[in-house]
Amino acid sequence: MHQYDFTEPSTFLVLTLLMFLIVVFRYVLIAGIFYIVFYVFDPKGFERRKIFPKHKDPKQYRKEVFWSVFTSLLFAIAGGLMVVMWQKGYTQIYEDVRQFGWWYIPVSFLIAAFIHETYYYWLHRWMHKPKVYRLIHKTHHDSHITSPWTSFSFHPGEGVLQSIIIPVIILFLPMHYYTIVALLTFMTLTSAINHSNVEIYPKGFHKHWLGKWFIGATHHSLHHTQYRFNYGLYFTFWDKWMKTESEKYPENFENHTI
Ligand SMILES: [Zn+2]
Ligand SMILES: [Zn+2]
Repeated sequence: MHQYDFTEPSTFLVLTLLMFLIVVFRYVLIAGIFYIVFYVFDPKGFERRKIFPKHKDPKQYRKEVFWSVFTSLLFAIAGGLMVVMWQKGYTQIYEDVRQFGWWYIPVSFLIAAFIHETYYYWLHRWMHKPKVYRLIHKTHHDSHITSPWTSFSFHPGEGVLQSIIIPVIILFLPMHYYTIVALLTFMTLTSAINHSNVEIYPKGFHKHWLGKWFIGATHHSLHHTQYRFNYGLYFTFWDKWMKTESEKYPENFENHTI
């Protein structure tokens, strides 16, 4: 990889295009699998797990895919810039696992996820200020009933704000490049889970000592319908600490699990 000069415009363009294809492919693959299993295949066992059983407007699906593909382009540009920063030596990205040891791989993953969570929670609360909401966050909430395709359905303004956090994290947190790829895949996967409109976690998960810290479809669907609660991204801790977790969550969770 180091034989290419990514600061050269045409090489940067090819790199960004390649990243765009990877991000779109990962989105279509993950959201597509969820969609086929929950909506096309639609096994009877999921009936109770569906949060909103009624079908949504097909036009909304098209909008979600359109905005998600656009956000993928913004994520690809951020990815391209990360590679340039890496090549220029501005980042803490490392290539040899032995440099920090195997134990550091999951630790750095968790640290980055916690930083991302903190950034997103407070950004999200700010985006719910009326003026900001109308300007950049309403596009995401147009999906009143969510679907796996809602995962990246953001206004470009929100897309930019979401895409800058990982490039900032790698400026100071040493991360193996595979850890970054794993985190980005985790981001896509959890976004599809949380927007799938189907609760996949088992009964009692919301009060389990570990499970209660994870956001799922019931948790995030309450955000899309109640607006003022459940701002978190992966984890519930900020919502619990700031008392912004919906009171309806335990009851709703029980109603959608078997
Ligand atoms: Zn959402
Ligand atoms: Zn919101």
